[in-house]
Amino acid sequence: MRTVHVDVAVIGAGSAGLPAYRAAKAEGASVVLIEGGVYGTTCARVGCMPSKLLIAAAEAAHSVSRAAAFGVHVDGRVRIDGHEVMQRVRRERDRFVGFVVDSVERIPDEDRLLGHARFIDDGLLQVGDHTNVLARSVVIATGSSPVIPEKYHALGDRVVVNDDVFEWTDLPAKVAVVGTGVIGLELGQALSRLGVEVTVIAPRGRVGPLTDPAIVDYARDVFGEAFRFESRSEVESAVRLEDGARLRYRREDGVLVDDVFDYVLVAAGRRPNIAGLDLHNTSLELDGDGMPVYDPHTLQAGACPVFIAGDANGALMLLHEAADEGRAAGINAARFPRVVALDRRAPISVVFTDPGIAVVGKRYADIAADSFVVGEVNFEDQGRSRVMLRNVGLMHVYVDKVSRRLVGAEWTGPDAEHIAHLLAWSVQMNLSVDTVLDMAFYHPVVEEGLRTALRDAVAKLAQTR
Ligand SMILES: Cc1cc2nc3c(=O)[nH]c(=O)nc-3n(C[C@H](O)[C@H](O)[C@H](O)COP(=O)(O)OP(=O)(O)OC[C@H]3O[C@@H](n4cnc5c(N)ncnc54)[C@H](O)[C@@H]3O)c2cc1C
Repeated sequence: MRTVHVDVAVIGAGSAGLPAYRAAKAEGASVVLIEGGVYGTTCARVGCMPSKLLIAAAEAAHSVSRAAAFGVHVDGRVRIDGHEVMQRVRRERDRFVGFVVDSVERIPDEDRLLGHARFIDDGLLQVGDHTNVLARSVVIATGSSPVIPEKYHALGDRVVVNDDVFEWTDLPAKVAVVGTGVIGLELGQALSRLGVEVTVIAPRGRVGPLTDPAIVDYARDVFGEAFRFESRSEVESAVRLEDGARLRYRREDGVLVDDVFDYVLVAAGRRPNIAGLDLHNTSLELDGDGMPVYDPHTLQAGACPVFIAGDANGALMLLHEAADEGRAAGINAARFPRVVALDRRAPISVVFTDPGIAVVGKRYADIAADSFVVGEVNFEDQGRSRVMLRNVGLMHVYVDKVSRRLVGAEWTGPDAEHIAHLLAWSVQMNLSVDTVLDMAFYHPVVEEGLRTALRDAVAKLAQTR
């Protein structure tokens, strides 16, 4: 066992760990980057990129299926070749992963260690069974893993998570998706559009990151038309069959449904990869779940020279947040004890469904009641959306009654991923609803729908005087 002495040890070479490494190096620190799995990041291997590749295939299939409504007829049977779909997903995914791996391999050998890292003591890590690392500061950037509730364990290889889907070489015929967070909705709708018979089971009735009850209800209806959407249904038993899985779930109306699927895709949330770090060997203060108590502004755990970034801290499991946090953690680890707070960007969260879902700025659930007005637009009669036959959606924008500032927005609707950026930038710049309305809106565009919602907010502000 050899011992390496460094200023900063970064655990995890993912989307948080890589910027942490680079930032600490840029500060002049000696840094070692430790990876216990494979290089390539969750985002590129089993997350953002392959999911969007599957969605892109689904969009192609959907465009063909609705072409007739425009008078465009695709004669003959439309055939979705599952082998080819999954081949492209994996081929393009591997290309993205290749770019990441190349960039990691350009990091000097002496700065990289392969092996699982665990704490032996404060500042002392054991990596695999080959190296001890003595570090002045440590960045924990170990990411997260899907949670598979106990009741599904009996399904053996018939219970799958997102990682497994992207390894499929063909599309199955029938799948149950458990969970209606971002991953469950995106993969559920994509598989459904690719001809898989999909049942999405929502134990708590949630729809992605939405918290505004009116938008949640609207979205639930919309997605209920896209696939079998069993809202507020609880799976009571899961049994492995010879070539499938039997689920028994109780619907909201009390009816017990018994159904058989090829696979059960569990998308029931993700848990930070903390358990394997042996944090009990350190003086870090841990909460009831064994998570280090940390400051979300500096990412520092207590008063220790330990920083926790990305999915590992369990707060904002998004790529750009992981990258920002990684960079900040790397700087603070290198400069310790001169730590500074991370300058957070405006919150933005997008679900790549159709219609899309977005939450920007403050969530409805987090704004003090009576402090804001709600501007609304329904996209069903919105000009450009209707032209494109994508006129489905409901948007709420939240505007502070006193400052008239745009506080946040929640919605489902066309081009949500793009409109979310306009709104996030406006929120971050502390713009008032009046300033946003003073800016250019072209015609005819989906953004005119946003303008309708903002004008509605202005009208409601006038009524509050
Ligand atoms: C299906 C899916 C779709 C997604 N889509 C989006 C999206 O569209 N947009 C978006 O913003 N976000 C999306 N995300 C979330 C995004 O991928 C994550 O937030 C981001 O990848 C987290 O980066 P990270 O560095 O924290 O973790 P990771 O990239 O997972 O890196 C953690 C690394 O730590 C290593 N590690 C763990 N424990 C140890 C240890 N003890 N010792 C050594 N190494 C260790 C792991 O092997 C891993 O390489 C998606 C996620 C999933 C699963």
